[in-house]
Amino acid sequence: MSAKKVAMKKVVIASSNAGKLREIARILEPLAFEAVPQDAFGVPECPEPHVTFVENCIAKARHAAAHTGLPALADDSGICVDALNGAPGVYSARYAGEPKSDARNNQKLIEALQGESNRRAHYYCVMVYVRYADDPQPIIAEGAWHGEIIDTPRGDGGFGYDPYFLVPEFGQTGAELSMEIKNGISHRGQALRALAEKLST
Ligand code: IMP
Repeated sequence: MSAKKVAMKKVVIASSNAGKLREIARILEPLAFEAVPQDAFGVPECPEPHVTFVENCIAKARHAAAHTGLPALADDSGICVDALNGAPGVYSARYAGEPKSDARNNQKLIEALQGESNRRAHYYCVMVYVRYADDPQPIIAEGAWHGEIIDTPRGDGGFGYDPYFLVPEFGQTGAELSMEIKNGISHRGQALRALAEKLST
């Protein structure tokens, strides 16, 4: 019996976050894509000057493809609060300025919502795959996870805004949900599965 070897196609991942890289590699592997972090190629940091997630994400994917000559995948995410016209949005990581701090970001968010009864918010994630830097048809997949901002933090899992992000269907915050449940319903989980679907067709 001869084992057929599947040729793996290299994809540069425009992220340095180890957790994200693992999640992305796990989704891409069955599709015969080998995920290689951009750090392995010494890709310099990419400016993210835009006000939309998708524009910044396209810029990052293009930048990685241009520096490596390989197909590239980028992701971008953040939290958008209805009563704040979508803020912090693309500024989620540094909402309270430099150096970035989850504690200060959360404090700023809770202060901004003081006396506000509309607590609706959603996490958003977009993933962009380009075959080459000037690919005219990037593959774009997205996910949104809806919830409400509460004033008192709950739970010690997750990261970022999770302790203040209540998921009504579960009666738990993002920081109280198990990692398995979070990955199954989160903005990032949704975007990754949508991307896998698009890449496999
Ligand atoms: P990035 O896409 O990893 O740069 O994420 C941007 C920022 O959005 C993070 O630093 C967090 O503040 C926030 N964020 C994105 N996804 C999540 C999440 O799943 N939980 C909590 N915060 C998140």
